Amino acid sequence: MPEELRYDGQTVVVTGAGGGLGKAYATFFGARGANVVVNDLGGGFKGDGSGSAKAADTVVDEIKKAGGNAVPNYDSVENGDKIIETAIKAFGRIDVLINNAGILRDISFKNMKDEDWDLIMKVHVFGAYKCAHAAWPHFKKQKYGRIINTASAAGLFGSFGQTNYSAAKLGLVGFTETLAKEGVKYNIICNVIAPIAASRMTATVMPPDVLENLKPEWVVPLVATLVHKNNTRETGSIFEVGGGHVAKLRWERAKGACLKADESMNPGAILARWDEVVNYKEPQYPSGPAEFMDLLEQANQMPTNKQ
Ligand code: NAD
Repeated sequence: MPEELRYDGQTVVVTGAGGGLGKAYATFFGARGANVVVNDLGGGFKGDGSGSAKAADTVVDEIKKAGGNAVPNYDSVENGDKIIETAIKAFGRIDVLINNAGILRDISFKNMKDEDWDLIMKVHVFGAYKCAHAAWPHFKKQKYGRIINTASAAGLFGSFGQTNYSAAKLGLVGFTETLAKEGVKYNIICNVIAPIAASRMTATVMPPDVLENLKPEWVVPLVATLVHKNNTRETGSIFEVGGGHVAKLRWERAKGACLKADESMNPGAILARWDEVVNYKEPQYPSGPAEFMDLLEQANQMPTNKQ
């Protein structure tokens, strides 16, 4: 039997934990020995309606009834420092941050208003930044920290009516990759997931029989593995997870074409070698930008470009 992962003595902060995926994370960590901060400001899935403490309180009660330890926090993730303060005041430390809170403002691009754009950026990107930024000094000091950010297939691949949400969600991928690089020497591990699960967010767009097979509980095991102390290597990674499927994603770069960088490098020269530019027959799987100096040298050695 594989070892049952536990989180005794650790503090886990889960944002947007009043329902959906966040609730599933919070109850899991509560049952595995962690002290949990259940953050949720309440409100509707479009970021509307006044905040109700009930969502966070209900989850805290559930965790406590099952013998766990949890406190509520009702701040918006835009005030991430207050959420982390709740963790420090209640439990004296923070070990794991799960940036999960989210809303939708779906609308076709033509009809999008600045407020639809701004609110999505505020909750998803600014919110994740504020929580991570407040947790970071604690992580750095104790040389231990685990962060999960929440992206979406909409960010990775695009999705009709979600330009705001897609931009925010892919933004969180870049955020994660850079945090992972900055965190490496302090044992701060940071990964990003693109989940799929039944929640009030997906209830309006997916049929009930599909949602049956997409329980939030089936996203939890990957997150639990990534934030566990045993994970000392997997960082800066992107995962798709949902309905029992778990897979890592990465960038793929075509070998591309190296053109002579002189006045002969014009659109006609690129078009003449377009097949090479877009050909994935000899793919590269980069974790950084192309080796620019090597490519510059190759380009210099090329003969003048043909049109
Ligand atoms: P959900 O609506 O059930 O949960 C989101 C929670 O975040 C809600 O309880 C809400 O009150 C809370 N919240 C919203 N704004 C907040 C704020 N400013 N501060 C604090 N809490 C706030 O939705 P879910 O499906 O469980 O989504 C969780 C995360 O997963 C979101 O980031 C979402 O974008 C992402 N996601 C979900 C799916 C999916 O299939 N469910 C797919 C891709 C991405």
